[in-house]
Amino acid sequence: MGSKIQVKAGSVLIGGGAQVSVQSMLNVPSTDIEGSVRQAAALEEAGCQIIRAAIPDMDAVRLIPALKKAVKAPIVADIHFNYQLALEACAAGVDKIRINPGNIGSDDRVKAVADACRQRGIPIRIGVNSGSLEKEILAKYGHPTPQALCDSALYHASLLEKFDFTDIVLSMKSSTVSTMIQAYELAAQQCDYPLHLGVTEAGTERMGIIKSSAGIGSLLLHGIGDTIRVSLTADPVREVYVAYDILRALDLHTDGVQFVSCPTCGRTRIDLVKIASEVEERLRGCKKNIKVAVMGCVVNGPGEAKEADIGIAGGDGCGLVFKKGEILYKVSEDKLVDALMDEIEKL
Ligand code: SF4
Repeated sequence: MGSKIQVKAGSVLIGGGAQVSVQSMLNVPSTDIEGSVRQAAALEEAGCQIIRAAIPDMDAVRLIPALKKAVKAPIVADIHFNYQLALEACAAGVDKIRINPGNIGSDDRVKAVADACRQRGIPIRIGVNSGSLEKEILAKYGHPTPQALCDSALYHASLLEKFDFTDIVLSMKSSTVSTMIQAYELAAQQCDYPLHLGVTEAGTERMGIIKSSAGIGSLLLHGIGDTIRVSLTADPVREVYVAYDILRALDLHTDGVQFVSCPTCGRTRIDLVKIASEVEERLRGCKKNIKVAVMGCVVNGPGEAKEADIGIAGGDGCGLVFKKGEILYKVSEDKLVDALMDEIEKL
């Protein structure tokens, strides 16, 4: 599972058999230090293990110490083109840098960044995406094919390897799910670097979740990928929730609540859709390792959810609370969610 090489961003191990980590990126302006710090804290609270911030100019470097002070999660500086920004970010205490060495100019500059990162044990993520491939690679393949993305990532990596720098993580994002899947498959065959998975420009929440689950999920299922970022045109905290839900759906993350609910059918006599959303929302952030079931009827509900530690099954305007398939008691519909939450509290 995962890459052969392992790197370390702050206290988080990436690759080499480490647990798949979840990351996200701040989306408040880099000039807004207070807002950035607040958002980083909210991301950390949601479980985000690695937090990336855009560092577009020297002024933004000030963000790094402020973020480091506010959160424990490692901070990644996202830098485009400017090697001096990378050097400054290293000096400011960043834990990881996202930069493409092929975009920063001469070998001397690449060496300066590699040396600064090596000295401080800072890994570099090379982030290739289908919209910004090198002219030569595009000319060779005609358009951003999976091999073109993979070649580009390996080309950038080779520039660091020249200076014996191999603390590298690669990403090859595309907004086309099949392209990104194949690009990562090729990279997993062709190199030993940890892979940061993501579907770029995945879209607003609904489509973004679908594309990310399909792309990231199928790669993880085949043992490819070491750290993940779900991209949504939404609050980044939502990205973290979705990332964990993908990991949970694949049994790659077993901490926290596993929630199951039935699709409802003609037997349902309570407002299960509302009840299920309320339970799910109230369980967000619950750290107990339990399986909770919300089922529409008593005929099939408890039986179908036998594996659940605790659950409810709807009757006609009422419902049963059950524990490991055994019925505990019956309550009216309006008290059902509270009763379930009380029982979960006791577990
Ligand atoms: S648990 Fe009951 S209500 Fe829900 S889908 Fe199954 S039969 Fe229908």
